[in-house]
Amino acid sequence: MLKRTHRLHELNKSLTDKTVVINGWVDRIRNLGGIIFVWVRDRYGIVQVLFEPGTQAYETAKVLSGEYVIGVEGIVRERPKDAKNVDLASGDIELLAEKVEILAESKTPPIYTNRDEGNEDIRLKYRYLDLRRRSLQRNLIFRHNLVQKTREYLNSLDFLEIETPYLMKSTPEGARNFIVPSRLKQGTFYALPQSPQIFKQLLMIAGFDRYYQIARCFRDEDLRADRQPEFTQIDLEMSFVDQEDVQETVGNLVKYLFKEVRGIDIGDVPVMQYQTAMELYGSDKPDLRFDMRMENLTSKNFVSKLDFLSPKAGEEVKMIVIPKNDVISRKDLDTYSESAKSSNLRLGWAKFHGNNFTGGIGKLLSAVESDVKVKEDETVIICAGKKNDVSTFLGRARTEIANKIGIIPQNTFKVLWINDFPMFEWNEEEKRFQAQHHPFTMPYLEDLNNESNDLSKIRAHSYDLVINGWEMGSGSVRIHTRELQERVFKLIGITEEEAKKRFGFFLEAFEYGAPPHAGFAIGVDRLVSVMLGVSSLRDVIAFPKTASGSDLMMDTPSEVPEAQLRELGIKLEEHR
Ligand code: ASP
Repeated sequence: MLKRTHRLHELNKSLTDKTVVINGWVDRIRNLGGIIFVWVRDRYGIVQVLFEPGTQAYETAKVLSGEYVIGVEGIVRERPKDAKNVDLASGDIELLAEKVEILAESKTPPIYTNRDEGNEDIRLKYRYLDLRRRSLQRNLIFRHNLVQKTREYLNSLDFLEIETPYLMKSTPEGARNFIVPSRLKQGTFYALPQSPQIFKQLLMIAGFDRYYQIARCFRDEDLRADRQPEFTQIDLEMSFVDQEDVQETVGNLVKYLFKEVRGIDIGDVPVMQYQTAMELYGSDKPDLRFDMRMENLTSKNFVSKLDFLSPKAGEEVKMIVIPKNDVISRKDLDTYSESAKSSNLRLGWAKFHGNNFTGGIGKLLSAVESDVKVKEDETVIICAGKKNDVSTFLGRARTEIANKIGIIPQNTFKVLWINDFPMFEWNEEEKRFQAQHHPFTMPYLEDLNNESNDLSKIRAHSYDLVINGWEMGSGSVRIHTRELQERVFKLIGITEEEAKKRFGFFLEAFEYGAPPHAGFAIGVDRLVSVMLGVSSLRDVIAFPKTASGSDLMMDTPSEVPEAQLRELGIKLEEHR
């Protein structure tokens, strides 16, 4: 076999007139009759190989086709000045082939490997070919670098990388668990971890003090475009710390990653309270790359003059101002009025032009003009209705509109902490409160012990890291006494008996010297895609699943042979 002496990024002018051997895939071929040019590609780069007639190499080159794997021995030549290719890293040189060997032939591939286009389902079916694309290779190399830098950073702080099991017990972390039937103990099941949460807390109790893991997590949730049933986290936990310590460590890690892997200084990471985020941006993950924050008009005197928009008891009225632009049309704005209506909200809009409010509720606003702070050619949207609903509605509109009118700067990263989430949230389907983060989170004791007994008012020592409107990760200070943990379980409807059965081991561990501890987890897939500015998580995962949870290459999930089910003691119902 013609075995490479150089990888393709290693070829340059300094090797001029030297004989080298390269290996790679045929990227493209240009047959000019008298002469054949072949671009050879490997993970590191692309090099032009020249085949001149009258040689054995030329005869072989004639039968080459896209994606053939070849070895070429040849002489490095500097290209003539007018033939240099500035788009190729190796564009100064080419290789004059002396020998060529076909190491593997290839059928005509069903997708382009050198262009970012084509039907995604077919690309996912032939993922190993799609992964030959330069952009996907770049993404996975970037991801590798990010993970290595993470290890480097955390190791330097004496964190220990410790693996935890994939086969475990179902936990109440919020999502549904994937379950795995046991063959040896028929009728029983393992669960795949939603995260290593319980294990990392047990590692703190065991005294390991600072833990991390590049951990795979599994959640059987209804999928959305930006979700995968299995995903990776930089999972960490620390003992003898408070919230600020964890946030400082994680903030510095993220800063380090941006600097080292992306070459960007993100500065210090500011903190915003959950309540403030909801009030100003209608979102617990505000995108701060643009302003357009909300103004609360509820207590302003002039709102009573706003007719159908004036607040009824318990309601609020909020406004957002859209900066000057020609993109947002009256039709768009009317669409918002309509969709507000279907959410039981009332919405009006007006443009401010020539010192006058026009369109929509222009007439209404003219009467209170001096009270509404707005500049020439800006548009206001005012929404009234049930408290949180108004904020959420306008929060969503804010992001949609900013995208539409193109005011979101690219290649800018706004990183921030959101602190003090509510401990519990109401689950309408199950008619009960559940932990908003997870039930191992430390509630604010002064809130918990408050007479009012209003669970929705209890804050948690929990915090999210947000970048450009995406939740990048979450963490919390943990409960570390049995008594408090049992109390929280009870509040979310887990009976004492059930708690004992499912988490007896965990509750018991709290009785043997559990140190105060806190932790965090960063979503790797999302962090990489935001840092790279790619729109789909699939572009940063080697073998991703579709939005419906399928692997199109392996064609899975799929049925298993009857005998395998029998071994597990499983009988499928006739109609599924
Ligand atoms: N286990 C949590 C999660 O996966 C993160 C944490 O609290 O450390 O969201």
